Amino acid sequence: MQFTLNSPLDMHLHLRDGDMLKNIAKFSAKEFAGALIMPNLMPPVTDINSLLSYKERILEVVSGENFTPYMSLFFKSDYTADFLQKAKPYIAAIKLYPSGVTTNSESGIERIDIKKLSPIFEAMSELCIPLCVHGETNGFVMDREREFCAVYEQLAKAFPNLIIIMEHITTCASAEILKRYENLYATITLHHLLITLDDVAGGLLNPHLFCKPIAKRHEDKEALQELALNANKKVMFGSDSAPHLVDKKERCGCAAGIFSAPIILSALAELFEKHNKLTNLQAFVSNNARDIYKLTPIEKNIILEKKEWIVPAKLHDVVPMFAGQSLKWKVKP
Ligand SMILES: [Zn+2]
Repeated sequence: MQFTLNSPLDMHLHLRDGDMLKNIAKFSAKEFAGALIMPNLMPPVTDINSLLSYKERILEVVSGENFTPYMSLFFKSDYTADFLQKAKPYIAAIKLYPSGVTTNSESGIERIDIKKLSPIFEAMSELCIPLCVHGETNGFVMDREREFCAVYEQLAKAFPNLIIIMEHITTCASAEILKRYENLYATITLHHLLITLDDVAGGLLNPHLFCKPIAKRHEDKEALQELALNANKKVMFGSDSAPHLVDKKERCGCAAGIFSAPIILSALAELFEKHNKLTNLQAFVSNNARDIYKLTPIEKNIILEKKEWIVPAKLHDVVPMFAGQSLKWKVKP
């Protein structure tokens, strides 16, 4: 038994840089036609030159694969309309991080002052540049995303022509407001479709499932599944696959991030099949993103076959999600 996915897209991916980039980019490049590359390097990608040289480095390590890195800039409050116009041909989106909420987001913005930032949001609306947002406050860890929903609502109301992408949503609250505003869209990760906080810390602590935003409750997971499995037009797949070396994870002060890239399509196929929704996977993992971002990805057919395999314990000193466990579907090499 097998089926084909046409040009799958991962609309939220961390490829890192240097050796890590060299080691892990291939896992995404083999199985996806393209991905939206996150700009939170050290220092973050905030100008066209560093964006283009990062893109070069990515293309170099994935050479031989049919794979498009869609680039994004790290939002800065001093961007001008003129700069955005110049950047437009090179970028698919701009990513906004409130400061200090996740890996390398220390240089993000302190407070989202909508009035002060409105010239940027107006220019982005006019240029059709989507605004991707890591939507968390600095509040209590389980409430951060829910508290941020008020900001999403303000943004959606104030800039009705701005395409706003709520990145890696994890709560019922986000699923709710997504439906309420026409210009709100969302990415959903693999891990938030599969795990809750119980899997992270309910028994023995599992640092490899520790991520930001942290996995939430069962009802939250179900709300996300409802959107993804039914291929709701406003959601698309974005893995937020974010590798850290094993010694950065298995320690006191464990870094946040789950390395899901090597198992994404297999695990998604298993989830969608379990719920009898395999026919909706194409829309969730590609077509919705094409519509939302107005992309025409390169032609790339990925065949998945029903064949059990065991996820390796470690890949280049990074522990992948579900290491050592068996999955039912495998991407045909
Ligand atoms: Zn991310």
